Amino acid sequence: MAKYRVTIDKDACIGDGICISICPEVFEFDDEGKARVTEKYRTASNYEGEVEANEELENCLTQAESMCPTQAIKLFKLE
Ligand code: SF4
Repeated sequence: MAKYRVTIDKDACIGDGICISICPEVFEFDDEGKARVTEKYRTASNYEGEVEANEELENCLTQAESMCPTQAIKLFKLE
């Protein structure tokens, strides 16, 4: 299992929901229609989290990062 820190730049997010379609375990809409991290993985804020990722989660996280049209999602491998 790999551990990732994930951040979402709320100002850059255009709310198209691509990350939520790709990886609903980790991303969901907030009250303003922007993406936030699901409660299970949240850390300091609604827009930051840490995920112990199995292969499936790792794949959807990396896909969400690369498919986000505004590069609002950043992934940092911790372990
Ligand atoms: S893919 Fe990017 S722009 Fe679209 S909802 Fe997710 S964070 Fe926002």
